[in-house]
Amino acid sequence: MALTGVEIFKLLPKTNCKKCGHPTCLAFAMKLAQRQASLDACPDVSEEAKRVLGEASAPPVRPITLGVGDKAVKMGEETVLFRHEKKFVNPCAFAVEIKDTMSDGDINRIAEEVVNSEIDRVGQKLRVDAICISNASNDAGKLVAAVKTVAAKAPAVPLIISTGNPAAAEAAVKVVADKRPILFGADESNADAMANVAKANKAILGVSAKGLDALSSLTEKIKGLGVEDMVIDGGARSAKEILRDNTLVRRAAIKKNFKPLGYPVITFAQRDDSMLEALVASLGIAKYASIVVVNSVEKWKNLALFTLRQNIYTDPQVPMQVEQKIYKLGEPTPESPLMITTNFSLTYFIVSGEAENSKVPCRLAVMDSEGLSVLTAWAAGKFTASKIATFIQESGIENEIKHRELIIPGYVAILSGSIEEKLPGWKVTVGPREANALPAFLRSRA
Ligand code: SF4
Repeated sequence: MALTGVEIFKLLPKTNCKKCGHPTCLAFAMKLAQRQASLDACPDVSEEAKRVLGEASAPPVRPITLGVGDKAVKMGEETVLFRHEKKFVNPCAFAVEIKDTMSDGDINRIAEEVVNSEIDRVGQKLRVDAICISNASNDAGKLVAAVKTVAAKAPAVPLIISTGNPAAAEAAVKVVADKRPILFGADESNADAMANVAKANKAILGVSAKGLDALSSLTEKIKGLGVEDMVIDGGARSAKEILRDNTLVRRAAIKKNFKPLGYPVITFAQRDDSMLEALVASLGIAKYASIVVVNSVEKWKNLALFTLRQNIYTDPQVPMQVEQKIYKLGEPTPESPLMITTNFSLTYFIVSGEAENSKVPCRLAVMDSEGLSVLTAWAAGKFTASKIATFIQESGIENEIKHRELIIPGYVAILSGSIEEKLPGWKVTVGPREANALPAFLRSRA
């Protein structure tokens, strides 16, 4: 059972030293009880308290890493039901299914699509994270062959091997045992044998049951067999069942600290209709799946799902920011235009992207506005004439350029006069309101 804040407080040093970042031990205890802090933050906690609190302070959804190396995927560690309460921790992974009945050509093509799926969006690398190879043939030899083909084509991509046949599982998992795959397919009929294969090969075990009651009994049984790392599937396949079951699992784990369901959830969203599949996958992303398995990875679908995932897994309390500095776009000369904007990541990447599209070399002064966009920063007093003037003067840009013209975003045209007053010798030009008008604006001046 979860401990209350007062019970946790009794085990803390009670010195109120603030080293944990909280004003008192009691405040820290309350955060621990809400799973919004980690016990590690208190350097003076006793070994006895660590032992007692270890379980209580452990994340209610077990942290598990799929794969190895740069492309390994972290799952679990979630502590809240709703993103605004704190944040969602480990973004849901996307896996595409490859059936071992497919031709070599198709298997290679899909593996290559996964390898090439990576895109850069607002400074983050986004990709299809994993491949789920399923034993549709029921033939161990075909499963092993498919695993070998995928491992050769996409050696760094984490794998899920899906089969209910322990002999096929053993043969296939051995091929990639050093890559920490998920072995998916343990159920009530084969739990002992599948647990043994997972243990022997240090694989994560994917556990499936019909309904959440059966699932929680099964994870307890498998834990008793010595397998700690599991991903779970309560058998939901329709959108309605996925929404219901994923919510119930997360609630049980977070609100009740119910350990038998405290594992990352795998959601199977495969549909023949790609649009429908994207919708079901979106539901999985929004509602608590740690892995969503899809049939295909078309670029349009990836982009929609990547964007949704990125939005949901961004910490709502920490705006995405880029470093304050003067960025060179292209190879600007001392005569090239100088523009200014705020350091909200999305603003920076959109403005710099459009400026690059113009093919007009220029400089973009990005001012620290605590990650706020232009209008919000202006309204909050973080993108003001005085601050802009100070930034420009202290940036050293006056030594790099020959002109004294600053282009400001059209939304803050109102600042042009006051910036000129505070930056003697400078001329302020009002640029477009929207970044998509920048290419025409810059080209018209070139
Ligand atoms: Fe209390 Fe530990 Fe926080 Fe200090 S660091 S205030 S002892 S909980």
